[in-house]
Amino acid sequence: MNKLILVKYAPEIFLKGLNRGKFERQLMNNIKKRLADIEYEIVVDQGRYFIKAQDVEAAVERVRKVFGVVEVCLVTEVERDLTAIKEEVLKMVSEIKPKTFKIETNRANKKFPLNSIEASRDIGGYVLHHYGEGLEVDVKNPECLVNVEIREKGAYIFTSKDKIKAVGGLPYGINGSTMLMLSGGIDSPVAGYLMARRGVALNCVYYHSHPYTSERAKDKVKELAKILSEYAEKVKLYIVPFTEIQMAIINGCREDELTIIMRRFMMRVACELAERNGVQSVSSGESIGQVASQTMEGLIVSTDCADRPVFRPLVTMDKTDIMNIAREIGTYETSILPYEDCCTIFVPKHPKTKPRLEEMRKSESVLDIEALVNKAIEETEIITY
Ligand code: ATP
Ligand code: MG
Repeated sequence: MNKLILVKYAPEIFLKGLNRGKFERQLMNNIKKRLADIEYEIVVDQGRYFIKAQDVEAAVERVRKVFGVVEVCLVTEVERDLTAIKEEVLKMVSEIKPKTFKIETNRANKKFPLNSIEASRDIGGYVLHHYGEGLEVDVKNPECLVNVEIREKGAYIFTSKDKIKAVGGLPYGINGSTMLMLSGGIDSPVAGYLMARRGVALNCVYYHSHPYTSERAKDKVKELAKILSEYAEKVKLYIVPFTEIQMAIINGCREDELTIIMRRFMMRVACELAERNGVQSVSSGESIGQVASQTMEGLIVSTDCADRPVFRPLVTMDKTDIMNIAREIGTYETSILPYEDCCTIFVPKHPKTKPRLEEMRKSESVLDIEALVNKAIEETEIITY
């Protein structure tokens, strides 16, 4: 029998009050976009979404990656009729062969003659009677939990093994937009994923230092942007030529200040690109204390160049936690490919870990900041995924 996909969405969406409709519409649109090349039909039954798809497996894989969806369940649909429900539940339990079980009924359709508790009891009794030896009811910790949803168009049945965890979060695109500084490393793709997961639309900027960083380093970033686009629909990647800025810094500023001043330029370019493209904020993969430039002082000095909110979703996370998310979302394998990034080439031997804002402003004042930023932006290459 072809199973239906029951889509469960974030409880947070239920709490949105008057905005709830907007969130639900966005979620539904995002699901439809993600299924665009699959044959499917969406049935809405009393606030629940059920998807009928030709290729159920492929549809599940897509839907569980839609932000806002917390769980998908593969459900069997039967008529809204007690006998049909009982027979199906007995069949499912017989296949699983648990030692203990429990029926949990959700009677959304009040026309059904029994209430939830009565229905559970009745179905459970039927299963016990017909199953034979070796099966007991355990309401506290059952080996097999059978869910029965009784709704307008039918009854839907599934067990614990039919539940598949989805990504959660809020519908993509509902919470404004950000310009993610995307390097080829492990952290920034995770940062982008976490922003997108809260419903923030993603744009990415990569600073490329040709010829100090190779085409392969660039390809790696492209691949990461592409992986992010699987969660985020459409992603624009801005590839900014960065060598001229770095050379200007190397020639004009002190060696121990290179990284910090370079980071100030990254921030300026990200903000300017955001401004010109109607993007509201900037995000990065920084985490407090992870490397020399990610001290509190370092963050203060780079944030100084921003004219909009800067989000650092990894700021409190340990490297191992970040790596675990990278593995989960499929960016890890690409991130660890050993191609240099621009920061590893221009690293000072003794980078400043506690830069002072006034000193940095003074040091870089010898550079024609505006001209450098404008030129880099004018020569930016744009790729859409
Ligand atoms: P990542 O793993 O994301 O590369 P990292 O631990 O290597 O981070 P840094 O190299 O200090 O840390 O970079 C901190 C953040 O600055 C990155 O997470 C990213 O957001 C941004 N960044 C660094 N290099 C680049 C680059 N070449 N292009 C775009 N953004 C960059
Ligand atoms: Mg890096």
